[in-house]
Amino acid sequence: MPKRNDLEYKAFQYILSNGTKGVLQSELWRKLGASSREGSRIALKLANKGLIRREKELSDGRWTYRLYPKRQPATVDSIIDCPCMGCPENVKCGSWTTISPNDCERLTEWLLKLAMEQGETIGDS
Ligand code: SF4
Repeated sequence: MPKRNDLEYKAFQYILSNGTKGVLQSELWRKLGASSREGSRIALKLANKGLIRREKELSDGRWTYRLYPKRQPATVDSIIDCPCMGCPENVKCGSWTTISPNDCERLTEWLLKLAMEQGETIGDS
């Protein structure tokens, strides 16, 4: 039988890999070969550490939890449309130069758009 810390790590990695669609607690324990009792303890531990959130869900007539990561790892996709990526001023731009991200309208607009989209995503769940 795997050690609990190994299971905790594997469980968290699996939850992360399922991203925003989450994973049913019962599916996760089957996948990891753990007992449901042990699985519940690990899920609570991950939730108490602030790494995941648990949402109650009725599945096949039984109440269980769907587990979601609280944060997603950053990906290249998250910055692919950042205006800095193709900006001709990029080499000259810096916090302490005359061309600065501190007062760049294009960067500010992009960040605000991201914040709005993130707000919609949080509001949908
Ligand atoms: S902060 Fe603005 S000026 Fe600087 S690289 Fe990004 S888009 Fe260009």
